[in-house]
Amino acid sequence: KGEFSALQLKSAVKVVVVVRPLLDAEKAKGATACVEAPSTTVVQLPPRRDASEPYRFDFDRVYKMSNPGRQMFAEVVQPLLSRFIQGFNTTVLAYGQTGSGKTFAMGTMGRQLSTFGEADGIISRSMRFIFDHMKVIRQQYDVSLKVSFIEIHQDDIRDLLGDGASTAPIQVRESPERGTYIENAQEVLVHSMDEAARLLEAGNMHRAVAAHNLNEHSSRSHAICTVQMEQRLRPSVPIGPEAQRFLRSKLHLVDLAGSERAKETGTTGQQFAEGVTINKGLLALGNVIGALTEGSGRKHIPYRDSKLTRILQDSLGGNSETLMVACVSPANTNFEPTLSTLRYASRAR
Ligand code: ADP
Ligand code: MG
Repeated sequence: KGEFSALQLKSAVKVVVVVRPLLDAEKAKGATACVEAPSTTVVQLPPRRDASEPYRFDFDRVYKMSNPGRQMFAEVVQPLLSRFIQGFNTTVLAYGQTGSGKTFAMGTMGRQLSTFGEADGIISRSMRFIFDHMKVIRQQYDVSLKVSFIEIHQDDIRDLLGDGASTAPIQVRESPERGTYIENAQEVLVHSMDEAARLLEAGNMHRAVAAHNLNEHSSRSHAICTVQMEQRLRPSVPIGPEAQRFLRSKLHLVDLAGSERAKETGTTGQQFAEGVTINKGLLALGNVIGALTEGSGRKHIPYRDSKLTRILQDSLGGNSETLMVACVSPANTNFEPTLSTLRYASRAR
């Protein structure tokens, strides 16, 4: 404990980069690592053949190590969770091309949730942190935690916690009370880490089972795990000047669709249409974050341009806090997509 300290950051959107190790499959194809991290906040790509200057980008933090999970959690995720527990909406977004490590970073796959280990992703670490803090919160508040887990594929929303039997249309709605929410998607009360883990693992399975090619499917869909917390001050607790009797907050943990472009995958027809739709979500997200970070307000923020940004509407900007985890491969063979990820991510700051 106390080994890593939380970073103090000015902006409401923090951006970190995770450079995963070179994979055996990449080495087998003769790829070499070309992405460097000359400091803990700088990431650098070598110049293209015809250029002389390397590409240099500044971020809040750059992680280039084999297991960044624990350190990244302590430095940038935990401060976000503290804010969530204080009653503010928060969002973590994993961005990057397919194969860059988004799912690994979030832990939106297979069995990573119930077992505790170094390779744990942001979701299981976050759930564990929240449940650990419940004991403290419960001294003053009655607390409830609800989890939902959906995916957006071709701008259609699917409930990963549902049994698939319901045919009620799943839609994004807004209410003054609840903010933006998903109508007809399950919100399940969870009382323990085990319960949450089982639920999310089932959701991950759902995602996998429905897809005949998981990698292809996940490269085209956004997976959104949402934790809602309600805290009600116990009647016996005397109310102080700062205290609020009721707090409601949301934490979105998002494994975004692959950022590669439709033209790069060389697909046509149906697959191309999917690629275009995904770009619509990522494009809208880029525009929203861009509008939020471009100085002072009153500007139009284009939340309504995609389902993704509509769902995240009350958790991006305003009082909320956002962390973007931009994932990149170190391989020289991924130079172009890596450069485009770093450009997108640096615009978000
Ligand atoms: P994405 O979700 O962006 O398509 P994945 O998370 O599935 O990418 O990662 C692609 C591959 O790289 C997987 O085999 C995964 O295990 C591996 N990988 C990703 N990040 C890391 C990491 N930090 N350390 C080791 N292996 C990783
Ligand atoms: Mg993935």
